[in-house]
Amino acid sequence: MKKRFFLFALLVPIIMGAQVMDIQKGYDISYPNIEVNPDYGFVWPVAADVLDDSSYTPQFSNRYFMSLFGPRYKSTSTSNVGYFDFHQGEDFTSFVNYNGQVYTDSNKYYLICMCEGVINSVDDSTDAYLETTGNGRSVRVKCDSSYRANPSWGQIYINYRHLSDLHTITDSAKQLPINTVRVSKGDTIGIVGESGITSTVHLHLSIARSDNGLKNVHPMRIFPPNRSPLLHTTLDSVNIELHHTWSDSALFRLIIPYNQVNIRSIEIKNQSYSRIYDFESISDSSNRDHNNLVSGLKLYAYSFNRGSTALSRYNSTKGTMPAIYPASPNKNSHSSYTHVPITTDTTAYILDIMASELPNGYEVDSFRIIVRDIYGNYVEGFYKQASTVAVKDYKKLNKLRVYPNPVTNHITIIPKNITAKYGVYRIFDANGIEVYETQKLLIDNNGTKLYNLDLAAGQYTIVLDINGDYIFSSKFIITK
Ligand SMILES: [Zn+2]
Repeated sequence: MKKRFFLFALLVPIIMGAQVMDIQKGYDISYPNIEVNPDYGFVWPVAADVLDDSSYTPQFSNRYFMSLFGPRYKSTSTSNVGYFDFHQGEDFTSFVNYNGQVYTDSNKYYLICMCEGVINSVDDSTDAYLETTGNGRSVRVKCDSSYRANPSWGQIYINYRHLSDLHTITDSAKQLPINTVRVSKGDTIGIVGESGITSTVHLHLSIARSDNGLKNVHPMRIFPPNRSPLLHTTLDSVNIELHHTWSDSALFRLIIPYNQVNIRSIEIKNQSYSRIYDFESISDSSNRDHNNLVSGLKLYAYSFNRGSTALSRYNSTKGTMPAIYPASPNKNSHSSYTHVPITTDTTAYILDIMASELPNGYEVDSFRIIVRDIYGNYVEGFYKQASTVAVKDYKKLNKLRVYPNPVTNHITIIPKNITAKYGVYRIFDANGIEVYETQKLLIDNNGTKLYNLDLAAGQYTIVLDINGDYIFSSKFIITK
């Protein structure tokens, strides 16, 4: 096979609809309060067998982390703007089916104390009363450990919420003064449940620091990322799309495949403009369940965090989605841009970001959208207008839609709005190196399935080459 090399930044054609932005990644430990090695040696609070087995494979529809810290879509309440909900913790599943161990009424999961410390508070009551409280049955432990990145933050507090039962030691602590009952790492302190306002059994974990009162931090800050590599998506697999621009605003979409990224903040900036949506500082706001707490940035989260069930959930609920959501089919009559549907079936998390108050008449390629995680990693998405590829009569083609299927080891490619022609599909890896090409095929709107590709895990792009005219797909991810 003849090797080809593409500089994607120079060759991305101008297309209608979504424009996949180029990504540049980096590492910036000077970002405030970054912990370089956040390994406090804490034990995991629930279902640790999954984490300790290096052969564990995350499933599309069965995730260890059920709901992430940060913006999410609330489908059960109409009390806040756009059904937007800011999740102040991290939800751990108890339903991961591993080694045949599934949570049932007779096979409950014990909640394990993560650190050495003292019991700082216990919230307990009847189940009926707890149903009226958000947090349910809860225990807070004040750990002996302090934050190393910023010792002035004081000791680490861990909140365990939605328990179905307390254990002996936490039950007895209810009668005693706070901070007098010691607990040890590994002690059983309760049973995972669904007390309070919940949709299913899970552990909600919140982490706080003490600084003129308790303040939230991202719960995953205390775990090193290499402690659970299979449960995390690295930032460079994030796709950023630019969907629409106006004279003073732009609509971006953040797409995170397969699993989760521990996002710390999202920033839009150029030389003279910067707006940052910092999840940790927003988390402390009593107003946090609104999507517009930073002037000029509006966030739209979706009910995406359960893998392949996410698309069907979106498809079944989108009819009731508020029209202000870009992915709402009610969109057309409510704004100056068209409905931006959600179409990929392997996406774990989608966030739409409307940046307004941009400098009037701005150049879109002067802007960067920067997504930072809690470990100092970041990706910058940027838009390159330049194109050295003649797109000729294919300008009406939106883009190639790509559906990798790791179970059956094939990829389905579906072009849009093409009249049948002969062409060649070429697959490029993240460095722009061609790793596969097909024979000449008849390309039509029914799509093509490519079997037995045996691609290594990584990020790829597919290019449809019709006599030297190139149509690019979005970047997509192969996992193993
Ligand atoms: Zn939660």
